[in-house]
Amino acid sequence: MEIIRNIIGAVGALILSFNTHTIVYTEKNTNEETNRSNIVESYTIVTDTSLEKLTPKKSTGTVVSTSWWSYPSNIKECTKNGNDLLVLVNKEYKLPKNYAPSDLVSASLSGIRKGESYMLRKILINDLKEMVTKAKSEGIDLSIRSGYRSYNTQISTYNYWLSANGGSVAATDKVSARAGHSQHQLGTAVDFSSSEIADGLGGTFAGTKASKWLANNAWKYGFVISFPSGYESITGYSYESWHYRYIGKAYAQEVINSGMILELYLRSKN
Ligand code: ZN
Repeated sequence: MEIIRNIIGAVGALILSFNTHTIVYTEKNTNEETNRSNIVESYTIVTDTSLEKLTPKKSTGTVVSTSWWSYPSNIKECTKNGNDLLVLVNKEYKLPKNYAPSDLVSASLSGIRKGESYMLRKILINDLKEMVTKAKSEGIDLSIRSGYRSYNTQISTYNYWLSANGGSVAATDKVSARAGHSQHQLGTAVDFSSSEIADGLGGTFAGTKASKWLANNAWKYGFVISFPSGYESITGYSYESWHYRYIGKAYAQEVINSGMILELYLRSKN
C-alpha cells in the first residue's frame, strides 16, 4: 500500500508541478479567467453518516478520540482573515473562494531549490531563507514541491487525487483537501522534498535526513508540521512528513511549549 501511495505521489507530483507552471503562465498572460472557466468543480460532497460527526474541541491539548474523515454538514467560513498567520483552515472552516494573499512572491527569493516554480507569501521568505541556509550548512538539502495554490488550482488537485483513488471521496478526503479547505491557499504552506529522493513528493520523504532535520528544527524558523503521524483522527489527514505551515517564530515556539499539535493549537486561537 505504501509503495502504491508513493508511486501515485510521484505521478501526482509531476502533474501538480505541471499545473503550477500552467497557472503561472496564464497569470502572466492575464488569461487566467478563461483558463479557470475550464475547471469544473465536479466532485460531489458526500456525507458518510456512518462516521462520527466532527465535534470541535477548543482550548484543549487533550487528544480526543473522534473520527474526522467526513466533512461536517455545517461548513463554516474561517473566523480569521486568510492573511492572519493563525487562521484555522480545516475540514470545518473554509476560506472564501476569492481569498488570495496579497504578498505572494517567488519562493526562489528564499534560496530554496526549485523555488522558481512556486509562490509563497513574502512574510515568510526571510525565515525560510535562514532555515534553508542553516540546513545546507549541516549537509541537509531541501527543495520545495508545492507552495501557494489558488482555490481553482485546488479543485484540480483534489480531482486528480479523486481520480487516483478510483473516485472514492472517503479515500481522497484523507490525502487531499477540497477547495477552500487547503492550507496551500494561504501561501504559507510548503511541501518539502530533498535531493535524497530526487525531489519526489510524498511518503518516501519520511525516511530522509531532511525530514528528520525539519522535524527537529523547522519550528525554530516558524514552520510547524500540519499533519503529524498518529493524529489522523484530529487533523483529518494521513501523515504528511513533507507538509509544513509557517506561523512565525514566536507562535511556533508557543506550539512547541504547549505540546499541542498545530491543529489543536490553532483551534485554541480561533
Ligand atoms: Zn501540502
